[in-house]
Amino acid sequence: MMYRLAENKLNDFLAALAKTEKLYLPVKDDSSGAASNFAANYKEWSEGTEYADCLNTSRSAKDFFFPQTENLFELKMEGKKIEVIDTRKEHEDFIIFGVRACDVQSFAVLDNVYLKQQPVDTYYKNRRDHATIIAMACAKPAQTCFCQNLGIDAANPGSKDGAVDVRGWKKDGSYYFEAVSEKGKALLAKVSACGLAEDAGAEKAVEEAKAAIKAEVAKLPIKMPDNAIFDEKNLKTVFNAKVWGELSETCLACGTCTFVCPTCQCYDIRDFDTGSGIRRYRCWDSCMYSDFTKMSAGQPRLTQLERFRQRFMHKLVYYPSYYNGMSGCVGCGRCLAKCPISMNIVKVAKALSAELENKEGK
Ligand code: SF4
Ligand code: SF4
Repeated sequence: MMYRLAENKLNDFLAALAKTEKLYLPVKDDSSGAASNFAANYKEWSEGTEYADCLNTSRSAKDFFFPQTENLFELKMEGKKIEVIDTRKEHEDFIIFGVRACDVQSFAVLDNVYLKQQPVDTYYKNRRDHATIIAMACAKPAQTCFCQNLGIDAANPGSKDGAVDVRGWKKDGSYYFEAVSEKGKALLAKVSACGLAEDAGAEKAVEEAKAAIKAEVAKLPIKMPDNAIFDEKNLKTVFNAKVWGELSETCLACGTCTFVCPTCQCYDIRDFDTGSGIRRYRCWDSCMYSDFTKMSAGQPRLTQLERFRQRFMHKLVYYPSYYNGMSGCVGCGRCLAKCPISMNIVKVAKALSAELENKEGK
């Protein structure tokens, strides 16, 4: 079912959504120092909050399901007695508005790791089950975008692997929304009094909006090399490529690329002494750090070259070979915009591809 909403009714629509459940949406945030395409972050809606219709958020939407830090449980100690306290709370239902196609696909990448393996990550699942996702097609993709190289349709978010509840488009002073799931249908039915109306011309307008987006996307400059070179059969050749040395030489190991990435999913588990016990929590970690996965037996990757290679091998080779070819990168362009030395997955993939092609050509 397709609905139309006049652009000047958007705030009424958002207010109506926020009355049903907590609503989070991209809000302008210059404080992040982000490139203009990412000068927004998700905030909870309150009266007066304005939707920032920029390309994407500086921090990805993965934070909703996999927050930067999260308490797991507490241990309370009294003498020799230790009590284990489950600190998990059942989450309230919430809505995420304005998720772009790349971030929608990132949910599928994370779901494979956290939901489709045993044991299921119940902390992640708890958040995931309570979310309603309203995705927005990208009217103005940026020069750093390359989701199209990975089979993701910016004009039709959620049409690949990641699921959405509602899809939206903006065209000529109107928003158009399509309820995709039962959850989405129920939600739009609840808020239809705010100016949202079924529209006979909506389908045509949406088709035109999609065609315009596809035309913009076709002009984007980034072209990732053919996935086939990263096939599992090339694993050793890619792993042993000489170019890793040169590529990793200037990496500062700052970890920015992993923290902004919507598909990076590694975390560390730590204990905090509360004075009367221990709080065990997890927090994001980065394979770019020298103490990542360090254990009593030592550090598995002693050099920055090895750590740098791990990040890109994981995205380009290990993840796809483990999950039926699904790319571990969704082409959001955040690492392209944020890396202080302008290193990124596209440069790495191109350099590897060039080295492999040279080898084959000899
Ligand atoms: S953001 Fe750039 S410099 Fe920092 S760890 Fe990633 S590749 Fe290295
Ligand atoms: S590797 Fe870079 S472009 Fe790919 S999903 Fe992560 S941040 Fe986005």
